[in-house]
Amino acid sequence: MAGSWRWSAAALLLTAGVGASVAAVQTAVSARSDHPPPARLVRPSPLAGEEAPRSPGRALVVIDPGHGGSNTGARSVVDGVYEKHLTLLLARAVAERLEARGVDVRLTRELDEYVSLRERVLRANRLRADLFVSIHTNASDARSQRGFETWVLTPSAVDVDSRALRRDAAPAAHPGADADTALLLDDVERGLSQDGAASLAAAIQGELASRRGRDRDRGVRQASMDVLLGATMPAALVEVGFIDHPVEGPELLEPEVQAAIADAITAGIASRL
Ligand SMILES: [Zn+2]
Repeated sequence: MAGSWRWSAAALLLTAGVGASVAAVQTAVSARSDHPPPARLVRPSPLAGEEAPRSPGRALVVIDPGHGGSNTGARSVVDGVYEKHLTLLLARAVAERLEARGVDVRLTRELDEYVSLRERVLRANRLRADLFVSIHTNASDARSQRGFETWVLTPSAVDVDSRALRRDAAPAAHPGADADTALLLDDVERGLSQDGAASLAAAIQGELASRRGRDRDRGVRQASMDVLLGATMPAALVEVGFIDHPVEGPELLEPEVQAAIADAITAGIASRL
């Protein structure tokens, strides 16, 4: 969730020897975003496949590539790369892997485009997804931290912070119900999903630890995470690494590292379906 509250505006180091990786990242992202259909210029694109009915008997997971478009997220230590690029690549990689396991997957964005936090969750609610996972890269003020962590929304944060957002979110989750009833239903569902969210986060974090090293395990954390507010299914937000760390930042551009991260997120999700 870097960008708004962990953004560092300090000058960033350029790292030698990763030019090819940068080009690969930018090419991979721009390959599907340079020439969007005209409709995307005037209104947000629908969630990919949103209109398609979900397959009977198959689990449905919504993967949220953090940031996008004008919302770049944190800036990489590698020039020209932003969080929004990496989150999209990782989300695509996770989607591929889950689909190979027979899971239905939708991304909240398939392009380098702006999608509001609220819309991301609303899309997952409309689809009645079984799980929602938001992917981000981290950043620290001193660019000295590294490692991965997974966040869940705490009940107290729900009580204090999310009412306003949920007044909008709830009716979409409960079509036909009036606002108060919908909110109540939302409360009930959220209570049921809390355990699921904690299990989901723990599973993802554990898989990351086994693949990326326990010395980088920053644990499962709880807080008010805006992108998770209003979700009516178990939801977690994973910060896969520090994009601005002089060592870890360039590492995150390496295909084998991205594959390991995608494998970990996939395994964590699959274990909870
Ligand atoms: Zn972020």
